[in-house]
Amino acid sequence: MLYVRGHPTDYDDWAAMGNTGWSYKDVLPYFKKAENNERGADDYHGTGGPLNVAEMRSNMPIGDVFIDAAMQVQMPTTKDFNGEIQEGLGTYQVTQKNGERWSAAKGYLTPNLGRPNLHIITQAHASKILTEGKKAVGIAYIKDGKTVEIKAEKEIILAGGAFATPQLMLLSGIGPVDELKKHGIEVVHELPGVGQNLHDHIDYVVAHKSNSRETMGISLGGVVDLTRGIFEWRKNRTGIISSPLAERGGFLKTDPALNRPDIQLHFVIGPLDDHARKTLLGHGYSCHVCVLRPKSRGRVGLNSSDPFAAPLIDPNFLSEREDVEILIKGVKMTQKIFDAPAFDPYRGKPLYPVDMTSDTAIVDAFRSRADTVYQPVVSCKMGIDPMAVVDPELKVHGVDGLRIADASIMPSVIGGNTNAPTIMIGEKATDMIRAAG
Ligand SMILES: Cc1cc2nc3c(=O)[nH]c(=O)nc-3n(C[C@H](O)[C@H](O)[C@H](O)COP(=O)(O)OP(=O)(O)OC[C@H]3O[C@@H](n4cnc5c(N)ncnc54)[C@H](O)[C@@H]3O)c2cc1C
Repeated sequence: MLYVRGHPTDYDDWAAMGNTGWSYKDVLPYFKKAENNERGADDYHGTGGPLNVAEMRSNMPIGDVFIDAAMQVQMPTTKDFNGEIQEGLGTYQVTQKNGERWSAAKGYLTPNLGRPNLHIITQAHASKILTEGKKAVGIAYIKDGKTVEIKAEKEIILAGGAFATPQLMLLSGIGPVDELKKHGIEVVHELPGVGQNLHDHIDYVVAHKSNSRETMGISLGGVVDLTRGIFEWRKNRTGIISSPLAERGGFLKTDPALNRPDIQLHFVIGPLDDHARKTLLGHGYSCHVCVLRPKSRGRVGLNSSDPFAAPLIDPNFLSEREDVEILIKGVKMTQKIFDAPAFDPYRGKPLYPVDMTSDTAIVDAFRSRADTVYQPVVSCKMGIDPMAVVDPELKVHGVDGLRIADASIMPSVIGGNTNAPTIMIGEKATDMIRAAG
């Protein structure tokens, strides 16, 4: 739900890689077109678009404590991560309407269900792109155990995301020959970049316990607060139920000489362990620290030629020493915020104590607990080099009638969360498809 676009130079970098039409100046109109920012329109923001962007409606006091603590240790603050200057800590705006998640489906599909040129088939699993020679002509999907084939009159647009789009390409014989042969898949078109260059934000969570009920947690009091929260949300559409939990955070430079932030923080109002897969009793607070432009690259491949099998995902995190160095600095900066006096009334023991004076101990902690903060991209990257999968019009190199419009086409991960940028890609794709007639 966090509404974040990345840094303007991320898009200028895309353009510098040969992606004409994707500089910040080129993509800003699409961000604005997509947006209905409840703050109103300005040079950087739009109104009237399908994607509602709202202020955080949660009022957990621990969020303000985080900002107060950051100011006590001289960290910069900002009111808009998507305006002129990204750097600083503050409160995220959210893709919500009336205190409720406003997804791409709610913004774009639900209001258009009655359109004669839109037919949605749910519970259907795309299993293959149908091809005739080097032309994509249809899609096979499986629904209720039966395979159905549909033909395209003009084009097919894949939007399965950074893992499923390369998987479907590989299942259809489009990709690196070795990978296809390994699974007995006939080669339709050799495209070495499919599934390669997977880029994601490596992330480490610094979590603390707390005795304060001004943080979120599982306790008798916490259940009372949550029950109150349900009533509050039903009445006013505000409070804890509307919270994305990662309420505050922002963008910092680990070295003041940098021209843009290189780490992002997501401050979470409760204690977090293993993406909340582990249930923790008691209250607390946490902060994600992620490296915004890691050098490590992974890949997406196949485990099997079965379309229902999960793809092989190897993020290859922390394979580059530079990523480790930035994460160490980011974690130390986060700890500095947590050590500030504003946290004194809330301070409890760290969930996983780490000697912050020892880089070796910090790296050991990364090796056992660092993970993704959910921004996988680049597995079908846009570009004009031999590893590019789509061209700057999002057309698959060497295969007619096939485009990709999802997070997989990003040429490099942007310095921020990837939902709004993916929606921007969708907006720009529609213009290019319309222009093609
Ligand atoms: C837990 C989590 C939290 C996140 N929080 C944020 C955030 O706060 N802010 C932010 O900006 N970004 C966030 N992200 C990232 C953001 O959600 C993604 O970058 C974005 O959704 C990518 O969009 P996409 O269209 O490429 O892929 P997706 O949103 O994954 O869409 C792909 C769609 O294709 C469907 N699909 C896949 N395979 C098939 C198939 N074979 N047949 C039929 N359908 C198929 C999937 O069901 C899915 O609906 C978060 C991600 C996660 C996982």
